[in-house]
Amino acid sequence: MNLNKKTVKDVDLNGKRVIMRVDFNVPLKDGVITDDTRIRAALPTIKYIIENGASLTLLTHLGRPKGEANPEFTVKPAADHLAALLGKDVKFVSDCIGAEAVADAQALKPGQIMCCENTRYHKEEDMKCKGDADKIAAQEAFAAELAKLGDVYVNDAFGTAHRAHASTAVITKFIDKENCVAGFLLDKEIQYLGQAVANPARPFAAIIGGAKVSGKLEVLTALIEKVDTILIGGGMAYTFLKALGHSIGNSLCEDDLLDVAKTTLEKAKTKGVKFLLPVDNIIADDFSNDANTEIVGVEIKDGWLALDIGPKTAELYANEILDAKTVVWNGPMGCFEMPKFADGTMIVCSAVADSDSVSIIGGGDSVAAVNQSGLADKMSHISTGGGASLEFLEGKDLPGVCALTDR
Ligand code: AMP
Repeated sequence: MNLNKKTVKDVDLNGKRVIMRVDFNVPLKDGVITDDTRIRAALPTIKYIIENGASLTLLTHLGRPKGEANPEFTVKPAADHLAALLGKDVKFVSDCIGAEAVADAQALKPGQIMCCENTRYHKEEDMKCKGDADKIAAQEAFAAELAKLGDVYVNDAFGTAHRAHASTAVITKFIDKENCVAGFLLDKEIQYLGQAVANPARPFAAIIGGAKVSGKLEVLTALIEKVDTILIGGGMAYTFLKALGHSIGNSLCEDDLLDVAKTTLEKAKTKGVKFLLPVDNIIADDFSNDANTEIVGVEIKDGWLALDIGPKTAELYANEILDAKTVVWNGPMGCFEMPKFADGTMIVCSAVADSDSVSIIGGGDSVAAVNQSGLADKMSHISTGGGASLEFLEGKDLPGVCALTDR
């Protein structure tokens, strides 16, 4: 996948009508946005476009309305919030295709913005086509309708760049190829992740945690080829410990992956990659912040479960991180949502912040942990796309990136 993509800076925006795919898939509670990070992350590109003589039509999805209009998933709160952040009107349009949307887009004057309703109100947006000619034709027809909204296409939605959806990839078939470009956010994501994968400063350490081995197996396999050190934490550690013959009590385990875990450990050994597992653990007699807890080594007694790495492991991992020059982190070291089991994740987080490394944080829960720690501004790059950053590190092509024009 070529990462040297044209950006908004490479096109003449003056007098143009720009369609920009953003990721305004923000968390909402009772219609109120609880975290506006994704909207703020799009501001530099939005401002650049409207300050350079173009009008702007925004497309986004929110949640999974499954191809039907459903007020629960309206993007209007995001449009209103953007207007408040910019101190400027953002016209909300109740459908992303159709005569009204096209007329509204054409009526925009340079510097004006409109935001269309959820692209996923149409089933064609995220239709799984799998080579089915009728579905491909339906998705292309929908993408062609979207393309009528403008003459320049900007993708700044890294969070959905791993999806070949109508508004993230297929639309580029209906826009002049030279005018399909990356926004600043998407460009920054691919530059950071690309550099880490292609040309990392060494030592290169990957911290991989989270609930399950299954969700991270592909990234582990890919990273073994690239990194010097892998630090394993979270629920996934216990499948590895069990594969090594340790007792893990009621800790999370994927028994069907015990052989895969062994093979992964062997592969790391063959490649000379340091593959570290917890040497001690915080165990609990219940999955609860009120549980009784103990610090133990690698043997976990019956009826108890490990919910965090122990202090020795946290120190061991912190030292590895402090030595590293590139750090990629995906997945917490324990159930950090419960304060009793947050220490391991927070110590690792502090080490990443203190280290003299290029640090890339990807994945919803690691980002939440970094935000919880208050150390977010000490990280080199916090990815806005958990799934997309994982697929990137797995070495997969991201359709939303491939669809853009090479520089
Ligand atoms: P993932 O989405 O795979 O990155 O997993 C994140 C989730 O893993 C978080 O909600 C954590 O609470 C959970 N988690 C981390 N460590 C453990 C553990 N030792 N046992 C059970 N769940 C865990």
